[in-house]
Amino acid sequence: HPIIIAIDGHSSCGKSTMAKDLAQAIGYVYVDTGAMYRAVTLYSIRRGLWQGEKLDTETLRREMEQVRITFRLNPETKLPETYLNGENVEREIRGMEVSAKVSPIATLDFVREAMVREQQAMGEARGIVMDGRDIGTTVFPQAEMKVFVTARPEVRAQRRLDELRSKGDTTTTFEAVLTNLQERDRIDSTRAVSPLRQAEDAIVLDNSEITIPEQKAWLLKRFEE
Ligand code: C5P
Repeated sequence: HPIIIAIDGHSSCGKSTMAKDLAQAIGYVYVDTGAMYRAVTLYSIRRGLWQGEKLDTETLRREMEQVRITFRLNPETKLPETYLNGENVEREIRGMEVSAKVSPIATLDFVREAMVREQQAMGEARGIVMDGRDIGTTVFPQAEMKVFVTARPEVRAQRRLDELRSKGDTTTTFEAVLTNLQERDRIDSTRAVSPLRQAEDAIVLDNSEITIPEQKAWLLKRFEE
């Protein structure tokens, strides 16, 4: 069966960069599971299912089977982009509005069941590098390689802020980003269904002080072992 590499960890610690780099180096498919929860969140926002902090869970539950999330390769960047019911939403799902609502959406059992089912199906055909929160614990407990990534909160907030700035967001503050990622970590770690946990057999990487090329070399070495 195809080899599966699970990359889990805290919010904004560069899991997706790691997973992308590794997948590219070894010719595997990269799957960003956070993008899937983000796309469901975008659906709920567009459908007007939020009244302030309150979500109309029952409507989302009923409509869940209409939410189709797919990935397509961008021919120029060669990277997968996220599609919601056929529309490219890659940009929109990265904004602060989605970031503020995604963790509550990701606590819902029916959302997780649907996402996990899709993710498991993606692992049937070929070697994949999948990043998320519950890949090594719930989606693929049998994964051949598991990495748990973390970094200091201030380092993570600065990286996420740099990313937002590079995409043209000039208004979000460092404080807002830091608060958002700490809040997501809190919700992700304390939810009832597959909370964010380090799998027992995961190798841990704190990348606060290392560069992206150093991180890539570290991963390749672990993969070759
Ligand atoms: O990885 P990213 O930060 O884009 O994920 C967004 C949110 O989606 C996380 O904060 C978490 O609430 C949720 N998520 C999850 N399980 C995953 C991936 C993401 O609950 N496997």
